[in-house]
Amino acid sequence: MKTGQIHVQTENIFPIIKKFLYSDHEIFLRELVSNAVDATQKLNVLAKNGEFKDKLGDLKVEILLDKDAKTLTIRDNGIGMSAEEIDKYINQIAFSGAEEFVEKYKGKEGAEQIIGHFGLGFYSAFMVAEKVQIRTLSRIKGSQAVQWESNGSPQFTLEDIDKSSRGTDIVLYINEESVEFLDKQRIQGILDKYCKFLPIPVFFGDKTEYIDSPEGEKDDKGNIKRVAVEVPNQINNPSPAWTKAPIDLKQEDYDAFYRELYPMTFEQPLFHIHLNVDYPFNLTGILYFPKIKENVEVQRNKINLFCNQVFITDSVAEIVPEFLTLLHGVIDSPDIPLNVSRSYLQSDGNVKKISAHITKKVADKLAEMYKKDRSDFEAKWPDLQIFVQYGMLSEDKFAEKAKDFSLFKNTDQQFYTIQEFIDKVKPLQTDKNDKTILLYTHDKEEQYAFVKKAKERGYEVLELEGPLAPHWISKLEQSFENISFARVDADSMDKLIQKTEEIPSKLSKDDEQKLKPLFEEQVNKEKFTVQFESMSEKEAPIIITQPEFIRRMMEQQKLGGGGGFYGAFPEMLNITVNANHPAISKLLTLKKKEKVQSAKQLVDLAMLAQGLLKGEALDAFISRNIEHIA
Ligand code: ADP
Repeated sequence: MKTGQIHVQTENIFPIIKKFLYSDHEIFLRELVSNAVDATQKLNVLAKNGEFKDKLGDLKVEILLDKDAKTLTIRDNGIGMSAEEIDKYINQIAFSGAEEFVEKYKGKEGAEQIIGHFGLGFYSAFMVAEKVQIRTLSRIKGSQAVQWESNGSPQFTLEDIDKSSRGTDIVLYINEESVEFLDKQRIQGILDKYCKFLPIPVFFGDKTEYIDSPEGEKDDKGNIKRVAVEVPNQINNPSPAWTKAPIDLKQEDYDAFYRELYPMTFEQPLFHIHLNVDYPFNLTGILYFPKIKENVEVQRNKINLFCNQVFITDSVAEIVPEFLTLLHGVIDSPDIPLNVSRSYLQSDGNVKKISAHITKKVADKLAEMYKKDRSDFEAKWPDLQIFVQYGMLSEDKFAEKAKDFSLFKNTDQQFYTIQEFIDKVKPLQTDKNDKTILLYTHDKEEQYAFVKKAKERGYEVLELEGPLAPHWISKLEQSFENISFARVDADSMDKLIQKTEEIPSKLSKDDEQKLKPLFEEQVNKEKFTVQFESMSEKEAPIIITQPEFIRRMMEQQKLGGGGGFYGAFPEMLNITVNANHPAISKLLTLKKKEKVQSAKQLVDLAMLAQGLLKGEALDAFISRNIEHIA
């Protein structure tokens, strides 16, 4: 037996490893299983090159749990190590670099992902084990099997052992604080998380399977009996869909893979994108478009990042633009540097390219779907629009492409792109300043009267809903010249789309002065401003409107964007009196009491049209009207 000192600069690298990985001890299993998988894959490569001529057998990795002995063993039938190799790869670990790194990133977010990339992978075993043995037999014919053992101090022992099977057992003697890793469920959970798609079969424990009776036993009905047998439990799918070529996959395969990724999600995605790049960086993956609900947060962070089929993280916010975190699926890239801090990731050249590539692919896919089958795209639009709007608001490159396929629906349920809609409404809805006014409603039932008035003039009204609509329309107003959005109830139609010809007013300034207080008495003056306008007789006698600008400020404030600087924006409404309506001129002729009653009635009716008459005021209105009839 040989004893020796692990070659480390400082005596106490182990306490540092233990500490800095404190929050995520479970990573050790990922590291050791990945090493085992690597060892089998290396053997595969050697065999292909003709350097290894023996039988490969079924390459596999096994995890063995022994509660009584308090050990967890990671076994592979890969390349194995000779005593010299142990010395080279395990004892002479390039700790100088690692040490520096550990010092620098200790306790920082994401540091646990780095461990494997600094030759620290194997040593992460000491986070959970008081003693670790490597029992290994090299692939080279006639090799002597050896056992390396260390208790976490830099001392180790190395001795010859009997071991007849090729490959390596890493035996962890789990320490007191880490007994959780002797629990079957816990280990199963970790394997499910990190190892589900490793490229070599990984087994843990047994599972029950039902097969036809090997003895051909029959049941009462004469059918072959089904009997339970214990079979090794393979925990991974070694060739997940994203590693295959798109032409080899059918829609069912993509659907099945989605269920494999998210067994708890019942909803099927709308469609997918298969990513496959090998220049200038390596990237594979499948991204799924879920149906995006109003509450986007619950759907976020479902993209899993893999590095050569080893699960790394489900937080990809630094790698893809924020709006893409709404997508689901998998990204696998060996070119995403994991050995850097997260804030550094965003400025990394490869990550930037990857991010731009994915954004482009997503935009191209949507554009292709739109071109290929517009009516299908229209059917999907309600589920897509939040995603597209979010993308347009946050990524200019995406917005540039998306404006050609982002859709609007008018109140007759016809879809238009923004350009199509502008072209359509331009002749009628362009005002005297040559601005094309795009009318919209956020709720065509609630704003029925306003929509109707607009349509009576031959105007088109869009239905715009969803939490991002106010931001989105501002964005479009900036991208298209000479257009402006206005909600149908933002002002009277004449004011919303002002034409050259002015309608003369039937009221004199004097009349207006007389009438104004009459209306003001009916409402809260802080909130309402009474104004007169000469509209056509066909318009309502009074309309209540909210200026577009004020409403948008309030909406943006609600969404938490800006405005806060000026304090809360007060709700402000206009009571616009139609100077040309006969009901208004009639008021001038009435006696005091009747005049007040009629004014009140007109204001209440206008409130009612806007859904503003509520509670006590509504009740009083109803009682008064019933009394009037009785
Ligand atoms: P890394 O895997 O990043 O190189 P590790 O500390 O995890 O760093 O492992 C160091 C080296 O030890 C590996 O590069 C490999 O050569 C060797 N090694 C580790 N585990 C095994 C194994 N199961 N079979 C064969 N060699 C192994």
